[in-house]
Amino acid sequence: VITREQCAALDAVDPLAHFRRYFDLPEGLIYLDGNSLGALPVTTLGGLNDLVANEWGRSLIRGWRDHGWWELPVELGERIGRLVGAAPGQVAVGDSTSVNLFKVLVAALRLRPERRVLVSEAGNFPTDLYLASSAAELLGVELRLVERDPDQLRRALSDEVGAVLLTHVDYRSAAILDMAATTGMVHDAGALMVFDLCHSAGALPVELDATGVDFAVGCTYKYLNGGPGSPAFAYAAARHQASMRQPLTGWGGHARPFDFEPAYEAATGAARLSVGTPSVLSLAPLRSSLEIFERTSTSELRMKSLGLSELLIALLDELDPPGLELASPRAAAMRGSHLAYRCSDARALHAALEEREILGDLRPPDLLRLGIAPLYLRHVDIYDTAVAIAEILGA
Ligand SMILES: *Cc1c(COP(=O)(O)O)cnc(C)c1O
Repeated sequence: VITREQCAALDAVDPLAHFRRYFDLPEGLIYLDGNSLGALPVTTLGGLNDLVANEWGRSLIRGWRDHGWWELPVELGERIGRLVGAAPGQVAVGDSTSVNLFKVLVAALRLRPERRVLVSEAGNFPTDLYLASSAAELLGVELRLVERDPDQLRRALSDEVGAVLLTHVDYRSAAILDMAATTGMVHDAGALMVFDLCHSAGALPVELDATGVDFAVGCTYKYLNGGPGSPAFAYAAARHQASMRQPLTGWGGHARPFDFEPAYEAATGAARLSVGTPSVLSLAPLRSSLEIFERTSTSELRMKSLGLSELLIALLDELDPPGLELASPRAAAMRGSHLAYRCSDARALHAALEEREILGDLRPPDLLRLGIAPLYLRHVDIYDTAVAIAEILGA
C-alpha cells in the first residue's frame, strides 16, 4: 500500500521540486490541467508590467528598435527550438496553432505539386482536421483520413500522397506516435511529414531535426505556460526553407519589410513563417516562462512526468474505484504527459473534484483528463487526487 508519507518522501528527494516556487499557484489548489492551460510563472506579471510601462510607455515607437520587438518571433523560436530538437533558424513564434497549420500544410503540399493526396488521422484534434480540409480544398487535393495506427497509415501511403499530418501525442488518450519510425515510413513513400506538437512541447523530449520531420506546429499556452492564447510556433526544416512557399505572404515574412517594396520576397530562415506585426504583448510572457525551462532539460521533465503518472496509475489500481478505467496506454513509453480515465459520469466526477479544489479536465462524454505538468506538481498532489477520486466514486 502506497502511503502519503512515502509520497512526501519522494517530494523531498525530487530534483525538480524547487521549480514549483517559480509558479504562482492558488494556495490549496491541485492543478491537473496544465496540459490545457499552463500555470502562471511568478515573473510573468513583472515582465508584462515592465513591457507595458517601460518598453511601450516610455520608448513608444523606438521600442521596435530598442527592445527587439520585431525579432521576438525568431528569438523565442530559437528558444522553443531547443525544447523540440530544432537547431537555430527553423522555428518562428506567432499566430495560433490553427493558422500555423494552414501555413505549413499548404507549404508542404506545394513542395509535392504532382501528388494529390493529404493524409491525416480521423481522430485528430478537430481544428487540425478543419484546416487540413480547407488546405486540401484550396489546392484541389484529396484529404484521406486513417486510424491512428502504423499499419493503416502504411496502407494509405502511395506515390499520390504529398503530405501526412499527425499529432505526436493524442489529445484524448495521450498515446504517442513513434516520430522517427512514422517519419521514416512517410519519407519512404516520398511524402512530407507534418507533426502537431501541442501536447508534446515542454512535456517530453522531441527530436525534430534528428528524426527528419519536415514541418511542425505547436501551442505555447499548454505545457509551455505562455498564458491564455499565447502565440503558437511553427517549424520548417532548414532544407525546405529556400524552396517552400507558405500562403500567408504578409510583410512580417518579407526579406526587407522596412523597404516597403511592392513585391513579396520571402525572408531567409524561420522569419518567412511570420505573417504580420508580432503580437508583442502576447509574446512577452513566453520570455519569462522559457527561462524556467532553460534551467532544466526535457529528459528531466520526462522522468518526473512519468514518475508522477506511474504513481497515479498505481494508486488508482490499488484503490480501484468502481467504474473508473484507464483510457491511456499503460506502457509509460507510449504515453505523453496526461492520463485519461473513462468514467460513465465523468462530468459529475470532474465537478466533485473541483469542489475539493482539484482541477482536472473534462472531455465529454466520458473522459476525465489529468494533466501531469512536471514543473509544479508534487507526489502528494497525486496521492490526494487518487484518494479524492476513490472517495467520490465510493471505493
Ligand atoms: C490545443 C490544440 C490545438 C489548438 O489550436 P489553437 O489554434 O491554439 O486553438 C490544436 N491542435 C491540437 C492537437 C491541440 O491539442
